[in-house]
Amino acid sequence: TTSAAAITDNGSARTADGLEVLLSINVNAPDEIERISAASTAGIGLMRSEFAVTSLADAANEDKQLAIYRRLLDWAGTRPVTIRMLDVGGDKPLSGLETSPDLRGIRLLLARPEIARVQARALLRAAIFGNLRVMLPMVTFPSDVDEIRQIFREEAAAFARRAIPHRDPPIGMMVEVPAAALMLDQFDADFFSFGTNDLLQYVAASARDDTDFAAYSEKAVPAVLRLIAYAVNLGGSKPFSICGDMAGDQRRTGALLAVGIRHFSVAPAQLPAIRSAIGGLHADGTRAAGE
Ligand code: PEP
Ligand code: MG
Repeated sequence: TTSAAAITDNGSARTADGLEVLLSINVNAPDEIERISAASTAGIGLMRSEFAVTSLADAANEDKQLAIYRRLLDWAGTRPVTIRMLDVGGDKPLSGLETSPDLRGIRLLLARPEIARVQARALLRAAIFGNLRVMLPMVTFPSDVDEIRQIFREEAAAFARRAIPHRDPPIGMMVEVPAAALMLDQFDADFFSFGTNDLLQYVAASARDDTDFAAYSEKAVPAVLRLIAYAVNLGGSKPFSICGDMAGDQRRTGALLAVGIRHFSVAPAQLPAIRSAIGGLHADGTRAAGE
């Protein structure tokens, strides 16, 4: 059972034994924020930019992207807004862009650096207007992060030469490929967020959109939880969150607290249920990520 006193309205929840857990929201279409007050969240834990940048023309349009990101930052005030760079390819096509099941996320950005550079420029300029954090999708190897950082450095240097206002945002990564989770201490990332949708599909070797295998793949949840616990141990004191669908599934809240997750990012509609699930659980004996 959950006591009302265990629930706060400031973007966090408390477990029954008083431990604070942050609650952020996942945003797909930017319009979704109009229905929710920023004050009831810890911020945006995942903005899937591929739902706002949906054509090659958008991907080439720095000013249009800047306006989209700025709208989210204005909404959030001082709260963090985590914008994930384009995660196209795989199950998320972008019309006019050739992709493949494996050429997606950061791999596609590095294969088409002109697309990555436009987005990096829009993000560098947007960072002036709030608490922006950049997140990288489908990171597999440390070099993926290093190469994107190099792009940000070069674009920032070009802005500096032209006296265009900009700021370097923190750059973090999704942990959604097993090879990355297993080697997390090797990555030059400022923060981590677990993407359990992809983690589950790659751990269970069954495609996330294959509905015939959904029930079968669910049996890999304990394996995914072990992998998360292992990765949390490797991550040192860096901030961790979880933004995959598992974060919004009340059946998993206790297990996620137990492996050290203290920051959940969920669809806005799931906030109340997860807040109350946390309020009904004891964190006693579990250890926070980063401790
Ligand atoms: C995930 O993989 O869990 C995730 C949050 O990213 P997406 O669902 O957009 O692939
Ligand atoms: Mg994913």
